Order: sequence, then C-alpha cells, then structure tokens
Amino acid sequence: MIEIKNISKWYGNFQVLKNCSVNVEKGEVVVVCGPSGSGKSTLIKTVNALEPFQQGEIIVDGISVGDPKTDLPKLRSRVGMVFQHFELFPHLSIRENLVLAQMKVLGRGREEAEERGLKLLDRVGLLKHADKFPGQMSGGQQQRVAIARALAMDPVCMLFDEPTSALDPEMINEVLDVMVNLAKEGMTMMVVTHEMGFARKVADRVIFMDAGEIIENLPGQEFFNAPHTDRAQKFLSKIL
Ligand code: ADP
Ligand code: MG
Repeated sequence: MIEIKNISKWYGNFQVLKNCSVNVEKGEVVVVCGPSGSGKSTLIKTVNALEPFQQGEIIVDGISVGDPKTDLPKLRSRVGMVFQHFELFPHLSIRENLVLAQMKVLGRGREEAEERGLKLLDRVGLLKHADKFPGQMSGGQQQRVAIARALAMDPVCMLFDEPTSALDPEMINEVLDVMVNLAKEGMTMMVVTHEMGFARKVADRVIFMDAGEIIENLPGQEFFNAPHTDRAQKFLSKIL
C-alpha cells in the first residue's frame, strides 16, 4: 500500500532523510519511533507530499508521489493524516468540519456527506456533539473528530504524527482506543508515536529512526524484546 524507496531529503546542506526505505502492506500497522529531530515527521509527511524529497520514490496505492504529473489533491484525499495539533476549522461546527472536504474534494452531495460524516462521528463516540464548535470540545474529543473527518474521505491508508502528544494524560487513551479499533478493522496505518503501550498492542512492525536514518525495521515483538542496535536499546530504556 505504501512503498517508500531510498528516500533522501536535504534542507540546504543538512540531510534530514538518509536513504530511507519502508514498505507498508495493506492492513499493516507500522509504528515509527526515535528521538526528537530524527526525521519521523519529515518521513511521514513525504508520503502525502506535504514534504518534497530530492531522491528516491514513494508509491501509495499505485500512485507515484514524486511524479510531477500526479494529482496531489486526489492523492491527499486517499491518504488520511492526523497531526499532533487537531486541525479542525475553528469557525465551523463539527458537522461542517466533517462534510466540507467530502463535498469539495470528493464532490459528494450534502446528504451523502452528512450521512458518512455522522456515521464516523458515531464510531468515535461523539455523535451527540455534531452541532458544537471545536472550541467547545476537549482536546481528546477534537482529535477523535479529526480522525473521523479523515476517515470520511474513505482513505486507503492513515498517517498519524504524534496524535496524542499534545493531549492531557487523561485524554490520551480515548484517542488511542479509536486508533486500536481502526487497526483491528484492518486499516493500513503509519503512526509516529512515543506511546509504546499502544505500539506493543498494534504494531505489526516498528521502524526506529535516528539522525535521518532508519536504524531498525523489525516485527513489533522483536523490536520490543530484542532490538538489534544499541541506539534502539538506549531509546527504549529511556522511554519504557
Ligand atoms: P522528528 O519528527 O523526528 O522530531 P523532524 O522530521 O521534525 O523530526 O525534523 C528532522 C530534522 O529536520 C530536525 O533536525 C529539524 O530541526 C530539521 N528540520 C525540520 N524542518 C526543517 C525546515 N523546514 N528547515 C530546516 N530544517 C528542518
Ligand atoms: Mg515530529
């Protein structure tokens, strides 16, 4: 579903991604971890073309991300993304947040878009909040709406960049629970997170990055039980 092949990227002279390769199969959950500044966000953002890259190739569901002929709005509509900061439109109700992109990008009519949006809002346990504004909801609730909004676009895969790291501790689990369910339902997911309990539960594979390089790419179990490198061992001993 996601093929990242030998990606390199530079900011001026600084190489932020060094020959990174990752394959994410359909239905697989890949967790990306590593120290701050190691290039996790940059890597995940290259997948839906939010960050350009200078070398290598990325293919998402058969679409070449770096190809100048690729229809980027169409690609992005196929790849759901949820960031650290809930990026709901503050001036729109939850209902409007859920339908906007479906109508604008997918050309759905209002009725169909509302039906789809509200069904997903129900799935994240927030149906009765449809007519609130984002500012009237907690961070955890807003993040669950952000996930529902991304799912309303019928994405082929979902990217998460530290979706719980800006949340108060008591709200982290409600968001992780939604993600665990999504994983169980077979969604293809790439998740940058420091939540190692979550990672242990759902990660088919764990990618460990350091200084722009993918240092480890192991089945979840193996990564947690016996990481191959000192760097990953040190990272785990600090975080667990
Ligand atoms: P992570 O998500 O693992 O914390 P990032 O992908 O955000 O790491 O950043 C990787 C490195 O790239 C960091 O050293 C960061 O300072 C640098 N970086 C990120 N964005 C830019 C930018 N726009 N210009 C220059 N350097 C950047
Ligand atoms: Mg980051």
